[in-house]
Amino acid sequence: MTEELEDYREDEQTEQKVAVEADQKKGSYAAIHTSGFRDFLLRAELLQAVADAGFEHPSEVQHECIPQAMSGTDMISQAKSGMGKTAVFVIATLQQIDPQPGVVDTLVLGHTRELVYQICKEFQRFSKFLPDVKTAVFYGGVNIAENRRVLKEEQPNIVVGTPGRILALCEEPNMLKVDKLKRFIIDECDKVLDAIDMRKQVQSIFKLTPKEKQVLMFSATISKDTRTVCRRFAQHPIEVFIDDESKLTLHGLQQYYIKLAESAKNRKLTELLDALDFNQVIIFVKSVKRCVELNKLLVASKFPSMAIHSGLTQEERIDGYNKFKEAKGRILVSTDVWARGVDVERVNIVINYDMPDSSDTYLHRVNRAGRFGTKGLAVSFVSTEEDSKILEDVQSRFEVEITEMPSCIDSSTYMTA
Ligand code: AMP
Repeated sequence: MTEELEDYREDEQTEQKVAVEADQKKGSYAAIHTSGFRDFLLRAELLQAVADAGFEHPSEVQHECIPQAMSGTDMISQAKSGMGKTAVFVIATLQQIDPQPGVVDTLVLGHTRELVYQICKEFQRFSKFLPDVKTAVFYGGVNIAENRRVLKEEQPNIVVGTPGRILALCEEPNMLKVDKLKRFIIDECDKVLDAIDMRKQVQSIFKLTPKEKQVLMFSATISKDTRTVCRRFAQHPIEVFIDDESKLTLHGLQQYYIKLAESAKNRKLTELLDALDFNQVIIFVKSVKRCVELNKLLVASKFPSMAIHSGLTQEERIDGYNKFKEAKGRILVSTDVWARGVDVERVNIVINYDMPDSSDTYLHRVNRAGRFGTKGLAVSFVSTEEDSKILEDVQSRFEVEITEMPSCIDSSTYMTA
């Protein structure tokens, strides 16, 4: 059993006041549902944590899915990335949980270490007034002995992790026991289930869980084939699919392309970084090697740049995640390890230095900017026939118009004040 499989294989590639402040910050899109979280009849400890997080109005996916998920029903939900799907399963879990010491009640699987780390932090944020609820996160690349210690000493009720490491811990005698599980959750379920090795790991874990449990699955992109696979794990699930793919792009996001030769990319990038106003920017590249090289070049040119890719140690990756999330670095050069799920509020620009290899990946990458109704800008470098083809696919699939980048853009159109 290899522990490294779970990593994404990138080489292949008070309330009213809070509401007003949040709306000013995030744009009116966040307020489409005038009902508040209070209407969900959440337990007081949870409602307080939700208010402390600055959440007032539920987003569309939250409005649609939280009441159903709270009722214990199985659910397969496609939800626009960046519109609060994490809170759907975090709130639904914390509302229902009755933590018993030493019993793992909920298991959440995700495809990358950064994503599961982030999910664990969300559980901790929302359970701060529920002191008996303990959450732990386990992923490959760190010493498994530390995971064993956490399981024995801290006795988590909610376990979040990547499939490979979770399975390894389940297979050890008297280690991670999932036979009393009440909820089985998969985030970015298409990514987890489309990769054959991860799917096998998930199936092996699933077999160890009781038949009666709630299954919740989420992603922004779930193909028809993947839906069939998802249905095999669930029992009479409520299904929320967005068949009109044009609804998957974020409203506040402006998208442009620049046609240029490969050799002109570095110069253009530095020009853009000098010219554009940004809080934080993510630059996506297609390989670890290019990630390392581009970051070196930016650092040498005195840009506040850092890099995240799978060539780093696990500690370096999580340190990098925290550093960028806390805005200690303003420019992040990344491979697709960061394309999905990772949420950094201040990112308002995404640059595809290398075009992604599919329209799905394009959608996930650019949605790192413009999250939760904020404004954002996505710029893609197009240098080959294949790049143009992906751009065309994106435009026809998501009905979005991506025009040539104008020489000057008013920063107020992509910066939330
Ligand atoms: P997600 O799509 O789960 O990654 O969430 C994207 C961002 O939106 C995260 O920073 C959340 O904290 C934030 N968010 C989620 N739901 C709400 C809400 N109802 N009100 C304000 N912010 C939210």
